[in-house]
Amino acid sequence: MRRTSFLRKLYAAYVVLVVLTTGLVGLLVGNQLAQVSLQETKDRLRSEATLLDDIAKDITVAANDPAWRLAHPSELDAFQARVKRLGSELGTRLTVILQDGSVIADSERTPANMDNHATRPEVQEAIASGVGKTTRFSQTVQIMMMYVAQPIAVGGARVGFARTAIPLTVHDERIRQLFAMVAIAAVLAATMALVVGFFFARYVTRPLGLMTSAAQAIAGGDYRKRVERTSTDEIGQLAEAFNAMADELEDRMLTISKDRQGLLAILGSMAEGVIAVGREQRVTHMNTAAGRMLQVSPAQSVGRKLREVTRVAEIRRSLSDTLQQGREAQGEVELRDGRVSVMTRTTPLLDGAGELDGAVIVMQDVTELRRMETIRRDFVANVSHELKTPIAAIRGVVETVLDDPEMKSGIRTRFLKKARNQSHRLSNLVTDILSLSRYQSQEAGLKRSIIDIREPVQQAARNHETGAEEKGIAMQMQISELPICIRGEAEALQLAVSNLLDNAVKYTAIKSGNGAGRIWVRVFSGSSQAFIEVEDTGIGIAPGEQERIFERFYRIDKARSRELGGTGLGLAIVKHICLSMDGMVAVSSEPARGCLFRISLPVVSESEAAALQYALPLQPSA
Ligand code: ADP
Repeated sequence: MRRTSFLRKLYAAYVVLVVLTTGLVGLLVGNQLAQVSLQETKDRLRSEATLLDDIAKDITVAANDPAWRLAHPSELDAFQARVKRLGSELGTRLTVILQDGSVIADSERTPANMDNHATRPEVQEAIASGVGKTTRFSQTVQIMMMYVAQPIAVGGARVGFARTAIPLTVHDERIRQLFAMVAIAAVLAATMALVVGFFFARYVTRPLGLMTSAAQAIAGGDYRKRVERTSTDEIGQLAEAFNAMADELEDRMLTISKDRQGLLAILGSMAEGVIAVGREQRVTHMNTAAGRMLQVSPAQSVGRKLREVTRVAEIRRSLSDTLQQGREAQGEVELRDGRVSVMTRTTPLLDGAGELDGAVIVMQDVTELRRMETIRRDFVANVSHELKTPIAAIRGVVETVLDDPEMKSGIRTRFLKKARNQSHRLSNLVTDILSLSRYQSQEAGLKRSIIDIREPVQQAARNHETGAEEKGIAMQMQISELPICIRGEAEALQLAVSNLLDNAVKYTAIKSGNGAGRIWVRVFSGSSQAFIEVEDTGIGIAPGEQERIFERFYRIDKARSRELGGTGLGLAIVKHICLSMDGMVAVSSEPARGCLFRISLPVVSESEAAALQYALPLQPSA
């Protein structure tokens, strides 16, 4: 559509108005002037006829007698000459006509050559109504003429006619001049009106133009744009209203953009992936988490159809279902070759009128949850299996003893010892399960306070001294002379070191038999960490196994571990105790040469410990 500016429209209407008005006024004025001029001409002819009447009276009376005319040709000639002179002075054709219609004088022709004028319309009219006025073609001079004839009367009796005439061209020329003047005046007036009108229209429309471009700038996102108020009239008021509207709009846009930023920040920081799609399945928003889960760039995904963004069939299907049926859909999908499990909930999005306008897909990473579930399931299966074994053994032993009352006492004692061993194992197992469940559950938590780690370590070592000695293993202590403080629970730490020493004694003894093994227990500190090391010269652990030994129920050699009274939970307990004190445990080993287990824990500086003593009483060693 071709756009016509308001200025052009306004000015075009103004031009039409000015041209019509000036044209119409010009015509009216011209016409009026023509009328006046015609009347003037007629009046002039009339007064000239009266003048002619005066000078022709006497001679007309006389000339009505044909005999007189024959007798006085010179008088007639003199009169003709006088009329001719007067006619040329007045610029009017003068004719004196006798009662019978014959002409005795004419300012432009010789009377002798002229027709009888009795039938001329102006003469006839003068006879009928006293004055005759006509405009007609003159047979005598062969042009259009305007005539006025009036009777020449003497003593109330008509003796002839005085006729005056001018060529119509003279009158027409005058009218033309009049019209030309009026036209020039009209054109001048119109030009002036148009020039003034143009500047006025521009003055009126300029602020509108400025407002239009300001409105366009605002529509294009420049909410700061305002218009200058140049007058106090309606246009000035419009500019003021426009600026007030722009202020309001800027305010609202600011609020909307703040809300949007806030919303985007919330969506961006969410752990759940969020994807919003329109009715056409085009992505309108995707947060960082969703991008991470689907391994796509959120910025590049916006505007594209979801099926172009992801190939995951389940997500595409649940979106189609939701968009077709307007119902929420839930599901679980495996991403990245099953390494990531994601639960999806697709909810329909409705617009203000309650019409389906798209959908929101919320994706929750349940990988860890599923992993924990698997661990828990495996753990329960392992626990029941581990519990069943000693119970079955005890039951078997007891049933055998009961079934054979004649059993020799030596054999019975052996059976009963076996039952006792199995019950010990059962008890150890239950104790370990309880310890593990306590230290791995965050909620139960440790009763942490400032402790000197040397105390629980020494206590654990003391508890194992006899056992090691019995197996000919030399235990060497290298304990820091200064206190080393951490935030933790002494009882738990003692249990962790005790488990390490238990293993060290067990797996050193089976290698070296009696008399050759050694165990070192070290406690020292670095700048921020406290270290507890338990090193042995036992059978060691192959590199492939070193990672796995901290898993629950993982044993390198199941039968041997069971034989040695192990539960497979010792190192898992150590790991969870360390984790609950913000520390860790690691192993380094060379198979057949021994192992080094190192616990590292964040140290509390002496000054910190001193300050904290008020709040946390120093724990007496266990
Ligand atoms: P267990 O009750 O069987 O000792 P742990 O969880 O304490 O269970 O240890 C897991 C496994 O790690 C053991 O079965 C054993 O094979 C290996 N292990 C632990 N400590 C040592 C060590 N000091 N030397 C050699 N192997 C060890």
